[in-house]
Amino acid sequence: MQEERLTLGVCVHDIASCNICYARNYDSSHGDAIGDCADKLYELKIGSMVLTLCDKCLDRLRETLTQRQLAAGEARLKQLREKLEPSVSAKEKPEASDGQTVLFTGTEFTAMNKLGKTYRYRMIGAEVTRDGLICLLNLDTNSLTYVEPEWFRQRKIKVIQKEQE
Ligand SMILES: [Zn+2]
Repeated sequence: MQEERLTLGVCVHDIASCNICYARNYDSSHGDAIGDCADKLYELKIGSMVLTLCDKCLDRLRETLTQRQLAAGEARLKQLREKLEPSVSAKEKPEASDGQTVLFTGTEFTAMNKLGKTYRYRMIGAEVTRDGLICLLNLDTNSLTYVEPEWFRQRKIKVIQKEQE
């Protein structure tokens, strides 16, 4: 079995002090000792390194690690949110077959069906019907037509850029 390279145990040395705040586990009669007196010291082994820590500094270390973990979690969440948001809002608008062109009310476009016939249409809008149909004005026949979202996927849609008059 391989030796554990990361351990935390109670410090068993009679004379030791915290590596961070110098809190010591012994009474000093010399008055030359710095740092408070600690009830207990811990030994944190990381690889070949051994750190002696008091309760307080161990807590601080834990807090530091937790904050690091939280910050990493926050960053990950932000990334996920940024990835999700554009696709969610794009779904709310009617899309052309390529998923790029968004047709707004008033947009004029040509649609070529599978037979290669092309008609000009003007987007009237999504009707509030329980079928979720979209109203279009066929500019070639000057008649209203109601289509399903699927209609756009079955045709080649090309938006007509209106020229300024
Ligand atoms: Zn300490």
